[in-house]
Amino acid sequence: MRIYVETYGCWLAKADADLLLQRLGGARANSPQDADLILLYTCAVREDGEVRQLRRIEQLSAVGKKLVVAGCLAKARPYTIKRAAPAAELIYPEQVEGGGERSMNVLPQYNGSLIYTVPLQVGCLGNCTFCVTKYTRGGAGYVRSAPPDLVVEHVKRAVAQGAREIYLTGQDVITYGFDARWKGGWNLPDLLERILREVEGEYRIRIGMSEPWVFGRFADHILDIVKRDRRVYRYFHLPVQSGSDEVLRRMGRRYTVDEYRDLIHKIKRELNDDVFVATDVIVGFPGETEEDFWMTVKLVEELQFDKVHVARFSPRPFTEAAVMDKQVPDVEKKRRSKIVSEIALRIAHLRNGMRVGRSDVVLVDEVDHGLVVGRANDYRQVVVKRGDGRGIVGEFLNVRIAGASPIYLYGEMV
Ligand code: SF4
Repeated sequence: MRIYVETYGCWLAKADADLLLQRLGGARANSPQDADLILLYTCAVREDGEVRQLRRIEQLSAVGKKLVVAGCLAKARPYTIKRAAPAAELIYPEQVEGGGERSMNVLPQYNGSLIYTVPLQVGCLGNCTFCVTKYTRGGAGYVRSAPPDLVVEHVKRAVAQGAREIYLTGQDVITYGFDARWKGGWNLPDLLERILREVEGEYRIRIGMSEPWVFGRFADHILDIVKRDRRVYRYFHLPVQSGSDEVLRRMGRRYTVDEYRDLIHKIKRELNDDVFVATDVIVGFPGETEEDFWMTVKLVEELQFDKVHVARFSPRPFTEAAVMDKQVPDVEKKRRSKIVSEIALRIAHLRNGMRVGRSDVVLVDEVDHGLVVGRANDYRQVVVKRGDGRGIVGEFLNVRIAGASPIYLYGEMV
C-alpha cells in the first residue's frame, strides 16, 4: 500500500509515524495524490500549530483518499478533527502499536537514512500545568520504556546498515527505565554504556530532551561517559521554562532557579565549557509579571545558552494553566518573546565565535549544491568549505573552524 506521511511535532512523533507506517504495511508515497492512504501524525503542544494542522486536515480530506489522523492532536481534539474530516480514522498515541496501550516492545526499523531515531520511552514524571502532552501521552509518574536488549539490537543493526547518528529520544528521555525503577541496566547512562561497548563502528549518539530535575540524578554518570567517549555528542537540551521561582511554582515545575543554575554550571565546569546547552523558555505564562520576565532574561544572559527555544504561552485543552487568572495579553507575549529571542541569538553568536580556531571532526548530514553541512562534536552546525565541493552524507571530516554566525560555524578542511 502506498502511504503519504506528514508529521508535525517532536522526534517522538516522527518515530511513531514510522512505527505506524510499518504496522500499516506501507511504502512511502511522495504526494497525497500518489497515495492509497494519507497518514497525518499530529502535535497538540501549541495553539497556532493546532490551527495549521486543522486547515491541513481539511485540505487532505478533500483529496478523497483514506485519511488517518494520528498522534497527540487526535487525542486532544477528536471532535474538532471529525468536524473537519468526518471520514478520518483517528489513532491515539497509545494505539500506535495496534493495542490500547504502548508496550514499547516494538521499535521502528532503520529506514536507511543518516539518523536512526530510537523512541526509548513515553510518559514522564512531571505534572506541569501548561502541558497537554501529559494528557495525550501520559505523565505524572506514568513511564513506559523499551527493553535495553531490544534497543541495543536495533541500534547495532542500524549502524551495521549505515546509520551514523543514533538519536535517543522520548517524551522525557532521562526518565528512561523508571518503570523498572532504573535498576538492572534500565536507565539512560547504563544503556549508553552498553551501546558504546557493544556497537562497533563510527557513529554519534545524541541524547534527546531531558527534564532538569531528573537529569540531575544521572548527571555525574552521563558527564563521565561524555568525557570518556567522543561518540556521544556534547549536547544537552534541558528546558528551564522560566527564570522566576514564582512562575516555576505556578507551572508545577519541580526545581528552583538556583537548582537549575547549579546543574548548568556543573555541566559547563565538568566539560570545560566544551558543550552545547539548549533550553526552552515560555514567556507570558499566566501571572508572569514584568519583573518575572526580566528574571528570565537575566538567567538567559547569565547561563549563556547556545540555543533558546522561545515559546509564547499558549492555553492548551485540559490544562490547569488554560484557566488560570492573570492571563497575559498576546501583544505583551509578542514583545517579551522578541526581547528574549534577540538576546539569545546574540549570545549564540558569541558562543559560536569562541569556537573559531578550534579543530573538530564533523559528521556530514547534508550536501546541497556543493554546500557541505555537518555536525561538530557538540552538535553545532558547520558549513564546510571543500575545494572540490564534494561531500558525502555520513562522512566524518577533519575541520578547522574559521568563522561563525549565530546559527552556523564555518570550517575549512584540515
Ligand atoms: S512538560 Fe512536564 S508534564 Fe509535560 S511532558 Fe514535560 S515533564 Fe511531563
